[in-house]
Amino acid sequence: MSQNSSAKTAAELSATGIRISVSESERFAASLDNTRYSALPDCVAHAEKPEDIGRILRVAHKNATPVTVRGRGTGCAAGCVPFCGGIVLDVSAIDFIEIDAAARVAHVGAGAVTADIDAAARKFGLMYAPDPSSHKYSSIGGNIACNAGGLRAAKYGVTREHVLALSAFLADGTRIKCGLPLRKFSAGPNLRDFFIGSEGTLGVVCEAWLKLLPAPEKKRAALAYFDGDSAGFEAVEKIMLSPLQPAVLEFMDVETVACVRAREPSFKIPCGSCALLAEFDSADADAEASLFISLLRELSNGTARAAKDDAEAEELWRVRRSASPAMYGLGNAKLNQDIVLPLEKTREFFKFFKQLGNGIGLPTPVFGHAADGNYHIHFMYDANDEGARSRALEGMRAAIEKAIEMGGAVSGEHGIGALKSKYMAIQHGEAELKLMRAIKRAFDPKNILNPDKVYTVADLPNAAPLKGVKLPWD
Ligand SMILES: Cc1cc2nc3c(=O)[nH]c(=O)nc-3n(C[C@H](O)[C@H](O)[C@H](O)COP(=O)(O)OP(=O)(O)OC[C@H]3O[C@@H](n4cnc5c(N)ncnc54)[C@H](O)[C@@H]3O)c2cc1C
Repeated sequence: MSQNSSAKTAAELSATGIRISVSESERFAASLDNTRYSALPDCVAHAEKPEDIGRILRVAHKNATPVTVRGRGTGCAAGCVPFCGGIVLDVSAIDFIEIDAAARVAHVGAGAVTADIDAAARKFGLMYAPDPSSHKYSSIGGNIACNAGGLRAAKYGVTREHVLALSAFLADGTRIKCGLPLRKFSAGPNLRDFFIGSEGTLGVVCEAWLKLLPAPEKKRAALAYFDGDSAGFEAVEKIMLSPLQPAVLEFMDVETVACVRAREPSFKIPCGSCALLAEFDSADADAEASLFISLLRELSNGTARAAKDDAEAEELWRVRRSASPAMYGLGNAKLNQDIVLPLEKTREFFKFFKQLGNGIGLPTPVFGHAADGNYHIHFMYDANDEGARSRALEGMRAAIEKAIEMGGAVSGEHGIGALKSKYMAIQHGEAELKLMRAIKRAFDPKNILNPDKVYTVADLPNAAPLKGVKLPWD
Protein backbone atom coordinates (compact mmCIF):
# COMPACT_ATOMS: atom_id res chain seq x y z
CA MET A 1 0.00 0.00 0.00
CA SER A 2 2.63 2.52 1.10
CA GLN A 3 4.93 1.21 -1.65
CA ASN A 4 2.43 2.10 -4.40
CA SER A 5 1.85 5.54 -2.99
CA SER A 6 5.62 6.08 -2.47
CA ALA A 7 6.34 5.09 -6.07
CA LYS A 8 3.71 7.55 -7.31
CA THR A 9 5.10 10.30 -5.05
CA ALA A 10 8.69 9.55 -6.09
CA ALA A 11 7.81 9.67 -9.80
CA GLU A 12 5.92 12.98 -9.45
CA LEU A 13 8.74 14.54 -7.41
CA SER A 14 11.42 13.31 -9.76
CA ALA A 15 9.58 14.94 -12.66
CA THR A 16 9.77 18.30 -10.85
CA GLY A 17 13.53 18.02 -10.30
CA ILE A 18 13.62 16.78 -6.68
CA ARG A 19 16.48 14.33 -6.21
CA ILE A 20 15.13 10.90 -5.27
CA SER A 21 17.32 7.99 -4.10
CA VAL A 22 16.11 4.46 -4.61
CA SER A 23 19.35 2.49 -4.46
CA GLU A 24 19.63 -0.07 -1.65
CA SER A 25 22.74 1.63 -0.22
CA GLU A 26 21.17 5.11 -0.07
CA ARG A 27 17.94 3.75 1.39
CA PHE A 28 19.97 1.84 3.98
CA ALA A 29 21.92 5.00 4.93
CA ALA A 30 18.55 6.71 5.57
CA SER A 31 17.10 3.72 7.41
CA LEU A 32 18.74 3.99 10.82
CA ASP A 33 19.95 6.27 13.58
CA ASN A 34 22.25 5.90 16.58
CA THR A 35 19.99 3.17 18.05
CA ARG A 36 20.90 0.91 15.09
CA TYR A 37 17.24 0.09 14.57
CA SER A 38 16.79 0.05 10.82
CA ALA A 39 13.81 -0.03 8.46
CA LEU A 40 14.22 0.62 4.73
CA PRO A 41 12.17 3.49 3.30
CA ASP A 42 10.69 3.05 -0.17
CA CYS A 43 12.84 6.00 -1.29
CA VAL A 44 14.65 9.08 -0.02
CA ALA A 45 13.64 12.60 -1.15
CA HIS A 46 16.40 15.21 -0.78
CA ALA A 47 15.49 18.82 -0.01
CA GLU A 48 18.29 21.07 -1.26
CA LYS A 49 16.60 24.35 -0.27
CA PRO A 50 13.71 25.24 2.08
CA GLU A 51 11.07 25.45 -0.71
CA ASP A 52 11.84 21.85 -1.70
CA ILE A 53 10.37 20.71 1.63
CA GLY A 54 7.04 22.32 0.67
CA ARG A 55 7.13 20.73 -2.79
CA ILE A 56 7.86 17.29 -1.37
CA LEU A 57 5.17 17.53 1.31
CA ARG A 58 2.48 18.79 -1.10
CA VAL A 59 2.89 15.70 -3.28
CA ALA A 60 3.23 13.27 -0.35
CA HIS A 61 0.12 14.76 1.26
CA LYS A 62 -1.93 14.45 -1.92
CA ASN A 63 -0.91 10.79 -2.27
CA ALA A 64 -1.13 10.08 1.50
CA THR A 65 2.47 8.85 1.51
CA PRO A 66 4.05 8.52 4.99
CA VAL A 67 7.01 10.90 5.47
CA THR A 68 9.78 10.42 8.02
CA VAL A 69 11.89 13.53 8.47
CA ARG A 70 15.63 13.02 8.78
CA GLY A 71 18.27 15.48 9.97
CA ARG A 72 21.64 13.78 10.44
CA GLY A 73 20.53 10.50 12.00
CA THR A 74 22.26 10.82 15.39
CA GLY A 75 18.97 10.36 17.27
CA CYS A 76 18.74 7.96 20.21
CA ALA A 77 15.02 7.08 20.05
CA ALA A 78 14.65 5.76 16.48
CA GLY A 79 12.69 8.95 15.68
CA CYS A 80 13.97 9.12 12.10
CA VAL A 81 13.70 5.37 11.43
CA PRO A 82 10.91 4.83 8.86
CA PHE A 83 9.23 1.77 10.38
CA CYS A 84 6.10 2.72 8.43
CA GLY A 85 7.88 2.63 5.05
CA GLY A 86 7.02 5.55 2.78
CA ILE A 87 9.60 8.22 2.05
CA VAL A 88 12.41 9.68 4.12
CA LEU A 89 12.65 13.44 3.70
CA ASP A 90 16.33 14.34 4.12
CA VAL A 91 16.89 18.01 5.01
CA SER A 92 20.61 17.80 5.78
CA ALA A 93 21.62 19.79 2.67
CA ILE A 94 19.81 22.93 3.94
CA ASP A 95 22.78 23.93 6.04
CA PHE A 96 23.32 27.68 5.63
CA ILE A 97 24.57 29.71 8.63
CA GLU A 98 24.37 33.52 8.81
CA ILE A 99 25.45 35.48 11.88
CA ASP A 100 24.03 38.89 12.80
CA ALA A 101 26.59 39.83 15.44
CA ALA A 102 24.91 43.08 16.53
CA ALA A 103 21.54 41.39 17.04
CA ARG A 104 23.33 38.32 18.49
CA VAL A 105 21.25 36.06 16.26
CA ALA A 106 22.21 33.11 14.03
CA HIS A 107 19.92 32.45 11.06
CA VAL A 108 20.42 28.81 10.10
CA GLY A 109 19.07 26.12 7.81
CA ALA A 110 17.59 23.03 9.48
CA GLY A 111 20.45 20.83 8.29
CA ALA A 112 23.24 23.02 9.73
CA VAL A 113 25.52 21.06 12.06
CA THR A 114 25.28 22.23 15.68
CA ALA A 115 29.07 22.63 16.19
CA ASP A 116 29.39 24.62 12.93
CA ILE A 117 26.85 27.15 14.23
CA ASP A 118 28.85 27.59 17.43
CA ALA A 119 32.11 27.86 15.45
CA ALA A 120 30.59 30.55 13.17
CA ALA A 121 29.38 32.51 16.22
CA ARG A 122 32.82 32.29 17.89
CA LYS A 123 34.33 34.33 15.03
CA PHE A 124 32.30 37.26 16.41
CA GLY A 125 33.10 36.58 20.10
CA LEU A 126 29.68 34.90 20.50
CA MET A 127 28.55 31.34 21.14
CA TYR A 128 25.59 29.05 20.54
CA ALA A 129 25.26 27.55 24.01
CA PRO A 130 23.49 24.15 23.66
CA ASP A 131 26.16 21.50 23.14
CA PRO A 132 24.86 17.92 22.82
CA SER A 133 27.81 15.53 22.89
CA SER A 134 26.89 14.76 19.28
CA HIS A 135 27.32 18.44 18.29
CA LYS A 136 29.90 17.70 15.59
CA TYR A 137 27.31 15.52 13.79
CA SER A 138 23.75 16.50 14.78
CA SER A 139 21.63 19.03 12.87
CA ILE A 140 19.94 22.03 14.42
CA GLY A 141 16.60 20.80 12.98
CA GLY A 142 17.09 17.52 14.86
CA ASN A 143 18.09 19.44 18.01
CA ILE A 144 14.93 21.53 17.80
CA ALA A 145 12.78 18.48 17.08
CA CYS A 146 14.18 16.65 20.14
CA ASN A 147 14.71 19.74 22.35
CA ALA A 148 18.31 18.59 22.71
CA GLY A 149 20.30 19.28 25.84
CA GLY A 150 23.99 18.98 26.42
CA LEU A 151 26.77 19.35 28.92
CA ARG A 152 26.42 23.13 29.25
CA ALA A 153 22.69 22.82 30.01
CA ALA A 154 23.71 22.99 33.68
CA LYS A 155 24.10 26.75 33.21
CA TYR A 156 22.58 27.64 29.84
CA GLY A 157 19.58 25.34 29.55
CA VAL A 158 18.38 23.28 26.58
CA THR A 159 17.59 24.08 22.93
CA ARG A 160 14.12 25.49 23.72
CA GLU A 161 15.68 28.40 25.59
CA HIS A 162 17.79 29.40 22.56
CA VAL A 163 15.31 29.33 19.65
CA LEU A 164 13.95 32.81 18.97
CA ALA A 165 11.87 31.89 15.93
CA LEU A 166 11.53 29.27 13.25
CA SER A 167 9.90 28.59 9.95
CA ALA A 168 8.31 25.22 9.17
CA PHE A 169 6.19 23.42 6.61
CA LEU A 170 2.97 21.75 7.64
CA ALA A 171 2.09 18.28 6.36
CA ASP A 172 0.19 19.72 3.36
CA GLY A 173 3.17 21.84 2.31
CA THR A 174 1.94 25.16 3.75
CA ARG A 175 4.81 27.26 5.05
CA ILE A 176 4.36 28.96 8.43
CA LYS A 177 6.49 31.36 10.43
CA CYS A 178 6.54 30.81 14.18
CA GLY A 179 7.58 33.88 16.11
CA LEU A 180 10.04 36.45 14.80
CA PRO A 181 13.78 36.82 15.33
CA LEU A 182 13.21 39.42 18.03
CA ARG A 183 14.32 39.39 21.64
CA LYS A 184 10.72 39.80 22.75
CA PHE A 185 7.54 38.57 21.10
CA SER A 186 4.18 38.61 22.85
CA ALA A 187 1.57 38.42 20.12
CA GLY A 188 -0.65 35.51 20.99
CA PRO A 189 0.38 31.89 21.50
CA ASN A 190 3.80 31.33 19.95
CA LEU A 191 3.50 28.38 17.57
CA ARG A 192 7.29 27.98 17.74
CA ASP A 193 6.90 26.09 21.00
CA PHE A 194 4.80 23.35 19.40
CA PHE A 195 7.69 22.42 17.12
CA ILE A 196 10.35 22.26 19.82
CA GLY A 197 10.32 18.69 21.09
CA SER A 198 7.63 17.45 18.68
CA GLU A 199 10.11 15.14 16.89
CA GLY A 200 8.97 15.75 13.33
CA THR A 201 5.34 14.81 14.02
CA LEU A 202 3.76 18.25 13.55
CA GLY A 203 5.73 19.74 10.67
CA VAL A 204 9.17 20.04 9.14
CA VAL A 205 11.42 22.81 10.41
CA CYS A 206 13.28 24.44 7.52
CA GLU A 207 15.11 27.33 9.19
CA ALA A 208 15.55 28.87 12.62
CA TRP A 209 16.79 32.02 14.29
CA LEU A 210 18.90 31.25 17.34
CA LYS A 211 19.91 33.33 20.31
CA LEU A 212 23.68 33.84 20.65
CA LEU A 213 25.48 34.77 23.86
CA PRO A 214 28.85 36.40 24.46
CA ALA A 215 31.44 33.62 24.46
CA PRO A 216 33.07 33.23 27.88
CA GLU A 217 36.67 34.38 27.94
CA LYS A 218 37.74 31.99 30.65
CA LYS A 219 37.13 28.36 31.47
CA ARG A 220 38.30 26.37 34.45
CA ALA A 221 37.74 22.61 34.75
CA ALA A 222 37.83 20.75 38.09
CA LEU A 223 37.46 17.09 39.03
CA ALA A 224 36.96 15.19 42.28
CA TYR A 225 36.70 11.49 43.19
CA PHE A 226 34.57 10.12 46.04
CA ASP A 227 34.42 6.84 47.93
CA GLY A 228 31.16 5.36 46.67
CA ASP A 229 28.15 6.79 44.81
CA SER A 230 26.44 8.09 47.93
CA ALA A 231 29.35 10.47 48.67
CA GLY A 232 29.19 11.61 45.03
CA PHE A 233 25.51 12.51 45.37
CA GLU A 234 26.27 14.35 48.60
CA ALA A 235 28.85 16.34 46.63
CA VAL A 236 26.25 17.22 43.97
CA GLU A 237 23.87 18.45 46.69
CA LYS A 238 26.66 20.55 48.25
CA ILE A 239 27.40 22.21 44.92
CA MET A 240 23.72 22.87 44.20
CA LEU A 241 23.26 24.43 47.67
CA SER A 242 26.33 26.66 47.21
CA PRO A 243 26.50 29.93 45.24
CA LEU A 244 28.41 28.12 42.48
CA GLN A 245 26.98 28.10 38.94
CA PRO A 246 28.92 25.44 37.03
CA ALA A 247 28.52 25.50 33.25
CA VAL A 248 29.09 21.72 33.35
CA LEU A 249 28.50 19.27 36.22
CA GLU A 250 28.95 15.66 35.13
CA PHE A 251 28.56 12.68 37.46
CA MET A 252 30.10 9.25 36.75
CA ASP A 253 29.18 6.39 39.07
CA VAL A 254 31.54 3.81 40.60
CA GLU A 255 30.81 1.22 37.91
CA THR A 256 31.52 3.71 35.11
CA VAL A 257 34.68 5.03 36.73
CA ALA A 258 35.95 1.46 37.26
CA CYS A 259 35.61 0.92 33.49
CA VAL A 260 37.56 4.11 32.77
CA ARG A 261 40.20 3.08 35.34
CA ALA A 262 40.63 -0.32 33.69
CA ARG A 263 40.86 1.17 30.20
CA GLU A 264 43.09 4.12 31.07
CA PRO A 265 45.49 3.14 33.90
CA SER A 266 47.51 6.34 33.29
CA PHE A 267 44.61 8.44 34.68
CA LYS A 268 45.57 7.28 38.24
CA ILE A 269 41.98 6.96 39.40
CA PRO A 270 41.45 5.85 43.04
CA CYS A 271 39.94 2.36 43.30
CA GLY A 272 36.20 2.19 44.11
CA SER A 273 35.51 5.84 43.40
CA CYS A 274 32.85 7.77 41.55
CA ALA A 275 33.69 11.12 39.93
CA LEU A 276 32.32 14.63 39.49
CA LEU A 277 33.62 16.86 36.70
CA ALA A 278 32.80 20.57 36.74
CA GLU A 279 33.61 23.44 34.44
CA PHE A 280 33.25 27.09 35.37
CA ASP A 281 33.18 29.81 32.72
CA SER A 282 32.35 33.09 34.49
CA ALA A 283 34.82 35.96 34.80
CA ASP A 284 35.43 34.52 38.31
CA ALA A 285 36.09 31.00 37.02
CA ASP A 286 39.31 30.72 39.08
CA ALA A 287 37.52 31.65 42.29
CA GLU A 288 34.65 29.29 41.45
CA ALA A 289 37.04 26.39 40.90
CA SER A 290 38.77 27.19 44.22
CA LEU A 291 35.43 27.17 46.02
CA PHE A 292 34.55 23.83 44.36
CA ILE A 293 37.80 22.36 45.71
CA SER A 294 37.37 23.70 49.21
CA LEU A 295 33.70 22.65 49.41
CA LEU A 296 34.57 19.09 48.39
CA ARG A 297 38.00 18.72 50.03
CA GLU A 298 36.92 16.48 52.91
CA LEU A 299 34.29 14.53 51.04
CA SER A 300 36.74 13.73 48.24
CA ASN A 301 39.66 12.78 50.51
CA GLY A 302 41.64 15.65 49.02
CA THR A 303 41.33 14.46 45.40
CA ALA A 304 39.43 17.58 44.22
CA ARG A 305 41.65 19.57 41.87
CA ALA A 306 41.38 22.24 39.21
CA ALA A 307 43.22 22.30 35.89
CA LYS A 308 45.92 24.95 35.67
CA ASP A 309 45.86 25.21 31.89
CA ASP A 310 44.16 23.81 28.77
CA ALA A 311 46.37 20.72 28.68
CA GLU A 312 45.41 19.79 32.24
CA ALA A 313 41.76 20.58 31.54
CA GLU A 314 41.91 18.15 28.62
CA GLU A 315 43.28 15.48 30.99
CA LEU A 316 40.30 15.94 33.32
CA TRP A 317 37.83 15.95 30.44
CA ARG A 318 39.28 12.69 29.12
CA VAL A 319 37.88 10.91 32.18
CA ARG A 320 34.36 11.94 31.12
CA ARG A 321 34.93 11.36 27.41
CA SER A 322 36.20 7.84 28.09
CA ALA A 323 33.08 6.92 30.08
CA SER A 324 30.90 5.78 27.19
CA PRO A 325 33.50 3.75 25.23
CA ALA A 326 35.00 2.27 28.43
CA MET A 327 31.65 0.71 29.40
CA TYR A 328 32.06 -1.84 26.64
CA GLY A 329 34.48 -3.53 29.03
CA LEU A 330 31.31 -4.80 30.77
CA GLY A 331 29.53 -6.17 27.68
CA ASN A 332 29.63 -5.69 23.93
CA ALA A 333 26.10 -4.22 23.77
CA LYS A 334 24.23 -1.67 25.82
CA LEU A 335 20.68 -0.59 26.41
CA ASN A 336 20.57 2.98 27.65
CA GLN A 337 18.03 5.70 28.36
CA ASP A 338 18.24 9.29 29.57
CA ILE A 339 15.86 9.56 32.49
CA VAL A 340 15.41 12.66 34.64
CA LEU A 341 15.08 12.49 38.43
CA PRO A 342 14.07 15.04 41.03
CA LEU A 343 17.30 15.84 42.92
CA GLU A 344 16.00 14.54 46.26
CA LYS A 345 15.11 11.14 44.76
CA THR A 346 18.47 10.43 43.16
CA ARG A 347 19.91 8.17 45.86
CA GLU A 348 16.69 6.19 46.28
CA PHE A 349 16.52 5.62 42.52
CA PHE A 350 20.17 4.56 42.39
CA LYS A 351 19.63 1.99 45.13
CA PHE A 352 16.67 0.62 43.18
CA PHE A 353 18.55 0.59 39.88
CA LYS A 354 21.62 -1.20 41.24
CA GLN A 355 19.40 -3.82 42.93
CA LEU A 356 17.55 -4.24 39.66
CA GLY A 357 20.84 -4.89 37.84
CA ASN A 358 21.97 -7.39 40.49
CA GLY A 359 18.61 -9.14 40.30
CA ILE A 360 18.83 -9.70 36.54
CA GLY A 361 22.58 -10.27 36.54
CA LEU A 362 23.58 -7.31 34.34
CA PRO A 363 26.02 -4.44 34.98
CA THR A 364 24.38 -1.01 35.36
CA PRO A 365 26.88 1.84 34.80
CA VAL A 366 25.46 5.36 34.98
CA PHE A 367 26.72 8.82 34.13
CA GLY A 368 24.87 12.03 33.61
CA HIS A 369 24.25 15.73 33.75
CA ALA A 370 23.99 16.01 37.54
CA ALA A 371 22.79 19.62 37.75
CA ASP A 372 19.77 18.70 35.61
CA GLY A 373 19.11 15.34 37.29
CA ASN A 374 19.44 13.86 33.77
CA TYR A 375 21.14 10.47 34.05
CA HIS A 376 22.15 8.09 31.27
CA ILE A 377 21.36 4.69 32.75
CA HIS A 378 22.73 1.56 31.08
CA PHE A 379 22.34 -2.20 31.10
CA MET A 380 25.41 -3.84 29.54
CA TYR A 381 24.99 -7.29 27.99
CA ASP A 382 26.33 -9.75 25.44
CA ALA A 383 24.83 -9.01 22.01
CA ASN A 384 24.72 -12.73 21.19
CA ASP A 385 22.77 -13.59 24.33
CA GLU A 386 19.07 -13.11 23.50
CA GLY A 387 18.10 -13.90 27.10
CA ALA A 388 20.35 -11.11 28.40
CA ARG A 389 18.82 -8.64 25.94
CA SER A 390 15.29 -9.54 27.07
CA ARG A 391 16.34 -9.10 30.70
CA ALA A 392 17.84 -5.70 29.84
CA LEU A 393 14.60 -4.63 28.13
CA GLU A 394 12.51 -5.75 31.11
CA GLY A 395 14.91 -4.08 33.51
CA MET A 396 14.75 -0.82 31.55
CA ARG A 397 10.98 -0.84 31.65
CA ALA A 398 11.04 -1.27 35.45
CA ALA A 399 13.67 1.49 35.81
CA ILE A 400 11.71 3.97 33.69
CA GLU A 401 8.47 3.20 35.52
CA LYS A 402 10.26 3.78 38.83
CA ALA A 403 11.73 7.10 37.65
CA ILE A 404 8.28 8.32 36.55
CA GLU A 405 6.68 7.09 39.80
CA MET A 406 9.27 9.18 41.68
CA GLY A 407 8.23 12.33 39.82
CA GLY A 408 10.86 12.03 37.09
CA ALA A 409 10.73 11.74 33.29
CA VAL A 410 11.30 9.03 30.71
CA SER A 411 13.62 11.31 28.75
CA GLY A 412 15.47 14.56 29.36
CA GLU A 413 16.89 15.18 25.88
CA HIS A 414 16.67 12.22 23.51
CA GLY A 415 12.90 12.28 23.13
CA ILE A 416 10.31 9.54 22.65
CA GLY A 417 10.61 8.54 18.98
CA ALA A 418 9.41 5.01 18.31
CA LEU A 419 11.18 3.21 21.12
CA LYS A 420 9.69 5.04 24.09
CA SER A 421 6.14 5.65 22.85
CA LYS A 422 5.02 2.82 25.14
CA TYR A 423 5.91 5.01 28.13
CA MET A 424 3.77 7.98 27.09
CA ALA A 425 0.69 6.62 28.88
CA ILE A 426 2.73 6.19 32.07
CA GLN A 427 4.29 9.64 31.86
CA HIS A 428 1.11 11.54 30.94
CA GLY A 429 -2.52 11.43 32.01
CA GLU A 430 -5.30 10.59 29.54
CA ALA A 431 -6.45 14.24 29.34
CA GLU A 432 -2.95 15.35 28.33
CA LEU A 433 -2.59 12.57 25.77
CA LYS A 434 -5.97 13.45 24.29
CA LEU A 435 -4.86 17.05 23.85
CA MET A 436 -1.57 15.98 22.27
CA ARG A 437 -3.39 13.75 19.79
CA ALA A 438 -5.82 16.60 18.99
CA ILE A 439 -2.84 18.90 18.31
CA LYS A 440 -1.29 16.25 16.05
CA ARG A 441 -4.60 16.00 14.12
CA ALA A 442 -4.84 19.80 13.79
CA PHE A 443 -1.32 20.03 12.32
CA ASP A 444 -1.38 16.81 10.30
CA PRO A 445 -4.96 15.61 9.69
CA LYS A 446 -3.90 12.81 7.32
CA ASN A 447 -1.26 11.58 9.81
CA ILE A 448 1.55 11.39 7.25
CA LEU A 449 4.39 12.90 9.33
CA ASN A 450 6.30 10.35 11.44
CA PRO A 451 2.93 8.60 11.79
CA ASP A 452 4.18 5.75 13.97
CA LYS A 453 5.99 7.83 16.58
CA VAL A 454 5.42 9.52 19.95
CA TYR A 455 1.58 9.40 20.24
CA THR A 456 1.10 5.96 18.70
CA VAL A 457 2.58 3.00 20.51
CA ALA A 458 5.02 1.75 17.92
CA ASP A 459 4.43 -1.74 16.61
CA LEU A 460 7.94 -3.10 16.13
CA PRO A 461 7.45 -6.80 15.54
CA ASN A 462 10.76 -8.61 15.99
CA ALA A 463 12.68 -5.36 15.53
CA ALA A 464 16.14 -5.40 17.07
CA PRO A 465 19.17 -3.19 16.59
CA LEU A 466 21.58 -4.21 13.86
CA LYS A 467 24.83 -5.71 15.05
CA GLY A 468 28.26 -4.56 13.88
CA VAL A 469 27.19 -1.34 12.14
CA LYS A 470 29.76 1.43 12.50
CA LEU A 471 28.52 5.02 12.46
CA PRO A 472 30.65 8.16 11.96
CA TRP A 473 30.60 9.15 15.66
CA ASP A 474 31.61 5.72 17.02
C1 LIG B 1 27.43 10.16 20.40
C2 LIG B 1 26.10 10.83 20.64
C3 LIG B 1 25.97 11.70 21.70
C4 LIG B 1 24.74 12.33 21.93
N1 LIG B 1 24.66 13.23 22.95
C5 LIG B 1 23.52 13.93 23.13
C6 LIG B 1 23.43 14.94 24.15
O1 LIG B 1 24.39 15.20 24.88
N2 LIG B 1 22.26 15.60 24.26
C7 LIG B 1 21.20 15.35 23.45
O2 LIG B 1 20.17 16.01 23.59
N3 LIG B 1 21.24 14.39 22.50
C8 LIG B 1 22.37 13.69 22.31
N4 LIG B 1 22.43 12.73 21.32
C9 LIG B 1 21.22 12.43 20.53
C10 LIG B 1 21.09 13.22 19.19
O3 LIG B 1 22.31 13.71 18.76
C11 LIG B 1 20.09 14.34 19.33
O4 LIG B 1 18.80 13.82 19.59
C12 LIG B 1 20.00 15.26 18.10
O5 LIG B 1 19.16 16.35 18.43
C13 LIG B 1 19.46 14.58 16.84
O6 LIG B 1 19.76 15.40 15.71
P1 LIG B 1 19.78 14.78 14.24
O7 LIG B 1 19.98 15.87 13.28
O8 LIG B 1 20.77 13.69 14.17
O9 LIG B 1 18.30 14.24 14.15
P2 LIG B 1 17.76 12.86 13.55
O10 LIG B 1 18.33 11.71 14.30
O11 LIG B 1 17.92 12.87 12.10
O12 LIG B 1 16.22 12.99 13.92
C14 LIG B 1 15.80 13.03 15.26
C15 LIG B 1 14.30 13.38 15.30
O13 LIG B 1 14.10 14.71 14.84
C16 LIG B 1 13.23 14.74 13.70
N5 LIG B 1 13.74 15.79 12.82
C17 LIG B 1 14.99 15.90 12.31
N6 LIG B 1 15.10 17.01 11.57
C18 LIG B 1 13.89 17.63 11.61
C19 LIG B 1 13.38 18.82 11.03
N7 LIG B 1 14.12 19.62 10.27
N8 LIG B 1 12.09 19.15 11.28
C20 LIG B 1 11.31 18.36 12.05
N9 LIG B 1 11.76 17.22 12.62
C21 LIG B 1 13.02 16.86 12.40
C22 LIG B 1 13.29 13.33 13.14
O14 LIG B 1 12.12 13.01 12.43
C23 LIG B 1 13.45 12.51 14.41
O15 LIG B 1 12.19 12.32 15.01
C24 LIG B 1 23.63 12.06 21.09
C25 LIG B 1 23.77 11.17 20.03
C26 LIG B 1 24.99 10.56 19.80
C27 LIG B 1 25.13 9.64 18.63
